[in-house]
Parts: sequence; C-alpha cells; structure tokens
Amino acid sequence: MASVFSMIVAGEIPCYKVAEDDKHLAFLDINPVAPGHTLVIPKKEINYLFDMDDQEYLSLELFAKRVAEAMDRALPCKRVAEAVIGLEVPHAHIHLVPINTEGDLNFSHKLSLPGEEMESIAAAIAAEF
Ligand code: AMP
Repeated sequence: MASVFSMIVAGEIPCYKVAEDDKHLAFLDINPVAPGHTLVIPKKEINYLFDMDDQEYLSLELFAKRVAEAMDRALPCKRVAEAVIGLEVPHAHIHLVPINTEGDLNFSHKLSLPGEEMESIAAAIAAEF
C-alpha cells in the first residue's frame, strides 16, 4: 500500500505545498512542532532515509538546504533545525523546523493550526524559494 506521502505526491490527498522539483517535494507538517515546520521528501517511495542511494540522498539534502534557506528568509526564527525521525510514516523524510530555542524542537508537543494560517505560512516560504 502506498504511503500517505506517496498519496500526497500523487495528488490523492492535499498538502500545504512549499516547494517542488521533479524528484522532491516539501510541504508543511500537518501537526507542526512550531509554525512553519516543513517535511522534505523524495517523490520516489523508500521507507528509511538512510537506505537511500547515495546520490538520491545527497540530492534530497541539497533540496532541503534550499527549502531551509527559503524558511530562513520567510520566517522569524534564529535557526532552521533539521531532524530525522521516521517512526510514524514509512516514507523517507527530513523535518525542517524554525526554532528560537532548543526547546522549540520538541516532537512530544505538536500544534494544530488553522488552515488559513497554514496556507499563509506555506505561501510565504514558497515565495522565498
Ligand atoms: P515521523 O515519521 O515520526 O518522522 O513523523 C511523521 C510526521 O508526518 C509527523 O510529524 C506528522 O505530523 C506528519 N504527517 C503525517 N501525515 C501527514 C500529512 N498527511 N500531511 C502532513 N504531515 C503529515
């Protein structure tokens, strides 16, 4: 069965899209740990990030770097933090989280933001990409 992220890639379920190229997609995490929390994925489904082919992994990281730079420009934060977890969705992904303190990167504390706010954050990052 396709992962929920493959269903997003296929357009079968919606997302708040931030950036895209032919091989990668970035969209807002539906339950962000901080406003602007973004997921960066390869469009090709593979379960575990560190099982990726070297070139595909490097290409994903370079795409994530460009997304992080856009987040830095678009969002009021000191840093964009990067994390890899992968316990919930079996489709490789990188978390990019705008932070001001170490405590902002707390995956046990998730938010649910109004749709209009998610749309406006995604548009702000997309405009800087
Ligand atoms: P993990 O696999 O542990 O790295 O966590 C997966 C992340 O994906 C969690 O932070 C979820 O909130 C997020 N997530 C799950 N389903 C969706 C979805 N349909 N759209 C956006 N984010 C999602």
